[in-house]
Amino acid sequence: MGRVSKYVSDQVLQPRVDVACGHCRKFGKPVLPYYGYIVDPDKAARPRQAHLDPFVSQLCTTCMNSDNTAKHEHQVEHAGRNLAAYQVPVVSAAKAFHQLPDVLPTGADFVWPFCCDDFCEWLGTARDEEERRAWCQHDAWQSKSNENPAKTGVLHLFRCGSCEKNYTNETQR
Ligand SMILES: [Zn+2]
Ligand SMILES: [Zn+2]
Repeated sequence: MGRVSKYVSDQVLQPRVDVACGHCRKFGKPVLPYYGYIVDPDKAARPRQAHLDPFVSQLCTTCMNSDNTAKHEHQVEHAGRNLAAYQVPVVSAAKAFHQLPDVLPTGADFVWPFCCDDFCEWLGTARDEEERRAWCQHDAWQSKSNENPAKTGVLHLFRCGSCEKNYTNETQR
């Protein structure tokens, strides 16, 4: 499990330390992309600024995991619709969804795999055909999704932190 974010392997993570977190305003902590807003500006490091502009585009993981930052409602709805296609109950995914860094390009159907009541850890992308085939064969989505379109884009690899099942999903090249 990643040390900076439990949802991203440290090996593929590219945190920035040269920008400030949009919530605590501190420099020097690993900061990851996160598209959302500050829930209560009065609790932010710079309340006046947060009132004027509550939107954030990068956060440290402490603030990402706090209750005072959230993703935009349309992102939540979009993710909920997509997860429902894989029979994931939206309610159980909702809280964790607000702690997911926006490190992956999300296309229309992109779903971050959810298993054992939490999102899986993103391990990176398949490097060659062999790795691709091996992961697709043992993809735990297979049993959950009704449709299994052939995967032709960039294949992203995920693993559940609890039961260690493997999942894949793709973004277009
Ligand atoms: Zn922070
Ligand atoms: Zn699991």
